[in-house]
Order: sequence, then structure tokens, then C-alpha cells
Amino acid sequence: MSDSPPPDVVGLGSYPTPVERAPRLAAALGLEPDDLVVKRDDLLGLGAGGNKVRKLERTVAVALRRGATSLVTTGAAQSNHARLTAAAGARLGLGVELVLAGDEPPHVAGNLLLDRLLGARLHWAGAVDTPGLERLAAQRVADLASAGTVAELIPYGGSNAVGAAAYADAGRELLAQVPDVAHVVVAVGSGGTQAGLVAGLGTGRVLGVDTGATADPVERVTGLVRELGADPTGLRLRLDQVGQGYSTFPEPVRDALVLAARTEGLVLDPVYTGRALAGLAAAVRDGDVRPGERTVLLHTGGLPGLFGSASAPGWAAGLAPGTGSRG
Ligand SMILES: *Cc1c(COP(=O)(O)O)cnc(C)c1O
Repeated sequence: MSDSPPPDVVGLGSYPTPVERAPRLAAALGLEPDDLVVKRDDLLGLGAGGNKVRKLERTVAVALRRGATSLVTTGAAQSNHARLTAAAGARLGLGVELVLAGDEPPHVAGNLLLDRLLGARLHWAGAVDTPGLERLAAQRVADLASAGTVAELIPYGGSNAVGAAAYADAGRELLAQVPDVAHVVVAVGSGGTQAGLVAGLGTGRVLGVDTGATADPVERVTGLVRELGADPTGLRLRLDQVGQGYSTFPEPVRDALVLAARTEGLVLDPVYTGRALAGLAAAVRDGDVRPGERTVLLHTGGLPGLFGSASAPGWAAGLAPGTGSRG
């Protein structure tokens, strides 16, 4: 009797993730109350949830098939992907090493706190771009190999074709829940989530909102869509919510966090989901999304990033209380 082969997907999350109406947020945006649905991929489970869980179920399966006992990946100091890689490793009994951009911050907060809690080994890469970070991580994999440890490099954001394919499946999961979906609005970082959704739903129904995580979002998403065997023609990717950069917290994003919180009790994050909602608000203003069109805001997680943000505490301290609007 032989052992069964390792699977293509390692179960780490809970499916399907819920969809919730958001009538007060819809009305505040200028949509009809029934137009807007939030898909809660923040509730996937595993160390605070988020879209990276779906991708890791595939990329970690590859690592296990190759006999890896350690995972190495990259990200920003407040990377949700790095935190979830640490959680996946903990769940599966694998070592995890994170090569993080920048220098060690003075305060251990947000995702970084969780990385340490989950047992990951951290390496600070200093000022490097994404390709530089990937090279350092590949070097770390090679060093581990020389020391006799089989380590797998999980790509930046989990976004190779294997990881991104998870969101083609998520697109089909969504279609079963919201058959008349006209727009899915999603924040874009490493690009795999939008690319997978496009492979599942077509370019016309997926509105990406760039966060400034990489210098080449259009090229990344386009390339991944092609790798998934789909057609990127007509890709919808807004570049207008980046502000002064990925790690900044621009005014429209601040407004979006307040709006979601005070209309629906829905908490977004300053880097990703706040930008997605700010992008949706802009799309309604310029007529790209219209009343009467079923619209899904994909909540991709990221809450620890709110608690790891340098600027959020001072901003929140200055917020005026709400008044309530029920007559
Ligand atoms: C990584 C991330 C995204 C973007 O997903 P990509 O596949 O990297 O483009 C969106 N939201 C959150 C909370 C994330 O952590």
C-alpha cells in the first residue's frame, strides 16, 4: 500500500465566504440600496484571514509536493501575505522565513506582531524594490539548501499562475452566490487576485484599484491573465487611488474607511480595501459604475494593517463622532 499523493490544494480556509448586502453604504455612494454586496474573504480564517489564504492553499501544496520543510517569502513590513504565510507554515509544521523590505520598525505592531507570534524568522532587507527583494529571498532559499533544508520560495503576494488560479475559482464561487454580478471591485497589489477573477469572470466584470505596491501593475496583471490562458483585452485597472505611495493613507481612502465603518459597521484597511472602496466611489462619480448594476466589493482582509499603520492612530484620534441618521 502506498501513501496517497499530496493534493493540489491544502485546505486552510473556510468556504464559501459569506456575501452581505450593504444598503446604507450603497445609498451613500449614490447606488440603489440593493446594488451593493460585500464578499467577505476577510473571513477565510487562518491567522486573521484575507485573500492570500486562497493563493497559499495552492502555492504551499506545490511546496509540499517538492518535499519542502520551510517556506520563504517576501513583502512589506505590514505584509498580509507574509503574515498568512507564517500562519500556513505554523498550521502545517513548516519553518517560515520572511524577507521584509525596509529596516526593522521601532514598534512591533499589526502584521509584524502576528509574524512574531506565529514563529516566523524575519530578515530586514533595507531599501530595495520588489525584484531586489525577490532576489534576496531566492538567495535565502539557496543558503538553506546548502545547510540541508529544502525550502520553497513562495512568490511575492502569492501571485504566480498557480496562486492566481485560486481566484478564478473564487470568481465561480461568487457567481453561484451573485449570478447577476456586473462589477467586482478589488484592490490590486501583486496582481494575482484581479488576474484570477478576470480568468473566472472576464475583464468586463472586474474593476481593479491599484495600491502602488508595485511599479508595473498593468503589466503584472496582464501577464498573469495571459498565464492563466485568459484574454486581458479591456482590462479595467484604476491607478488614481495610490496618492503619494503604497504606504501612505490618502484623504479619499480615509473617507472610505469612515464611510464603510459608519454606514455598515464594516472595517476596511488603509492600504488595500480602503483604496478599493475609494476607487468604487470614484467609479460611481465618473459613471463607470451606475445605479441598478449589481456590484460586489471584495473584502480581501488586511485588518492587522490598520493596527500596524503609523498614521492611523493620530488620524482616528481626531475623528468627530457620528450622529446617527435613523429618523
Ligand atoms: C495582497 C492584498 C490585496 C491584493 O491582492 P493581490 O493579489 O496581491 O493583488 C488586497 N487586499 C489585501 C488585504 C491584501 O493583503
